[in-house]
Amino acid sequence: MSETEIEELPGVGPATAEKLRDAGYNTLLAIAVESPKNLADLADIGEAVAVKVIAAAKKAADLGGFETGDVVLERRQNIGKLTTCSKSFDSLMGGGFECQAITELFGEFGSGKTQIAHQCAVSVQLPEDKGGLDADVIIIDTENTFRPERIAQMAEGLELDPVKVLKRIHVARAFNSHHQMLLAEKAKEIAEEYPVRLLIVDSLTSHFRAEYIGRGALADRQQKLNKHMHDLLRFGDLYNACVVVTNQVSAKPDAFFGDPTRPIGGHIVGHTATFRLYLRKSKGGKRIARLIDSPNLPEAEAVITIDETGVRD
Ligand code: ADP
Ligand code: MG
Repeated sequence: MSETEIEELPGVGPATAEKLRDAGYNTLLAIAVESPKNLADLADIGEAVAVKVIAAAKKAADLGGFETGDVVLERRQNIGKLTTCSKSFDSLMGGGFECQAITELFGEFGSGKTQIAHQCAVSVQLPEDKGGLDADVIIIDTENTFRPERIAQMAEGLELDPVKVLKRIHVARAFNSHHQMLLAEKAKEIAEEYPVRLLIVDSLTSHFRAEYIGRGALADRQQKLNKHMHDLLRFGDLYNACVVVTNQVSAKPDAFFGDPTRPIGGHIVGHTATFRLYLRKSKGGKRIARLIDSPNLPEAEAVITIDETGVRD
């Protein structure tokens, strides 16, 4: 959408339009899906103005009103699905990882979260008739576990050119939770330049967990995580992208959620993620993925293997 369209919104003068653009809001949709507080903070406008601008953008972008179920169904049929490269895993997920949704992979150390994330970073580049989205990917790497060598192996496993595949992966190392949140905001800039359809945060929670220690810090941590998750969800909506995040289960009891098999981040992460997958190791190097939370799919399991070529049945 052109710049003039933002200026044409009722109540938006040239000065406000410029502020909005400077803050990275280039489309009506980007404004329409923003919260008043964020828009006010980031574009440096009053919150009352932000409320009006968002309402006008929603109206102009034909978003946020009531509609009938059949219209929603038709729109949902256009939402992309991304193959995991395992047939049973794909069918567990109703055809693959869904776009415009957050899929959370949680499990203990070594359960395969990072491997699956790497696999998605490659499979998203496949053409649509092979289960991909023919698109670029952004990876926010918080644990320094991104391995281009592993990507190259998986590319070869799908008969793709490793060099070309690596060129479509935009990766940034996040040094702390604040930096991680900034990178999630910056992801939009990359997506304006490249056709990005997958955003990976591996791991979503490790920095938050390390930095916000003890009961006193819990409310602050959950508030930050909440904002971060909503930024990610908004990215998915804006770019019709898949969002995949990983989450550890705490070996040591967490400040609040003492159960060692519970994922970190508690209710915030759990309620914002659209699909939650619990991964665990099984016999003979196999891994079991259990879908434990989904708006439309039954709770079930898939058995996968991880070998040199990547994730397989
Ligand atoms: P986490 O859940 O902690 O992110 P990872 O996804 O890093 O776990 O999984 C690590 C495991 O992946 C290793 O223990 C190994 O079993 C498997 N793995 C990693 N690289 C390869 C490879 N090149 N070939 C086969 N298996 C691999
Ligand atoms: Mg990992």
